[in-house]
Amino acid sequence: MKSVTASLEGQRVLVTGATGGIGAAIVECLAAEGAWPLIHYGRDRAAAAEALLARVSGQGSILQADLASADGPYSLWRQATESGRVHALVNNAGIRSEVSVEAEPALWRATWMREFQVNFFAAADLCKQAIQHFRAQGGGRIVNMASRAGQRGYAAEALPYGATKAALLNLTKSIAVSFAREGVFAVAIAPGWVRTDMAEAFIASHGKAAAVADIPIGEMAEPSELAELVAFVLRPSQLSLNGATLDVNGGSYIR
Ligand code: NAD
Repeated sequence: MKSVTASLEGQRVLVTGATGGIGAAIVECLAAEGAWPLIHYGRDRAAAAEALLARVSGQGSILQADLASADGPYSLWRQATESGRVHALVNNAGIRSEVSVEAEPALWRATWMREFQVNFFAAADLCKQAIQHFRAQGGGRIVNMASRAGQRGYAAEALPYGATKAALLNLTKSIAVSFAREGVFAVAIAPGWVRTDMAEAFIASHGKAAAVADIPIGEMAEPSELAELVAFVLRPSQLSLNGATLDVNGGSYIR
């Protein structure tokens, strides 16, 4: 019997936004379980990607693509599949922008467009490519990093963020329903606040109390909690999770 720590042995897993707080934790966890992470970074995080690769003892590959550009996701998928089969895709890259309803229309529109491009369209394009690849390769798994913000409606100053994550949740369910018979499995994860740069940016302008006030456990999640969950979802033994939205929010949103 295979040991649990080696349960992802030989799996090549593309992790987008892998230089961010949650992405890096996912890469480290996947590597510890025997996977070969494909470490994606955006425009200017080459040094962070190299440092991450060193932390996993060189067990992985680094891929660069700007997911804010229309071709970025396609370029990324081409790079990921150049050297063979990809077993799983983790759409983790994301941004959280603030824009007021009082903003000028041009700024309002640009913020919505960019948020949807990075958080949703890039993920949808990668899902499209992955579904075709997985069908041809005997199956594969998709994990989409959504958010509690997409489940319960969101803050006045960051309306686009919640909307992109709601769309990602719906896409995940549609893939789970539509393609599981062909071996393509999809799960969404919906964290509340997680201790990363994204949360720090919120704390810097709104304070920590605003972040944790409605979290019954009184704390943000650690990136490692999300990472362990992603590794668990990718275990070959976990088939019936297909279509699930996994809440990681300290009890701040219970359905
Ligand atoms: P982070 O800011 O630390 O990391 C985000 C990652 O996305 C970075 O690696 C960044 O380079 C990448 N990225 C952003 N724009 C990109 C672009 N144009 N092209 C390529 N890559 C780009 O944030 P995080 O907290 O690690 O977030 C990871 C995911 O978790 C995001 O999808 C986020 O929405 C989600 N999430 C985070 C929290 C939280 O509280 N931190 C809560 C719920 C959901």
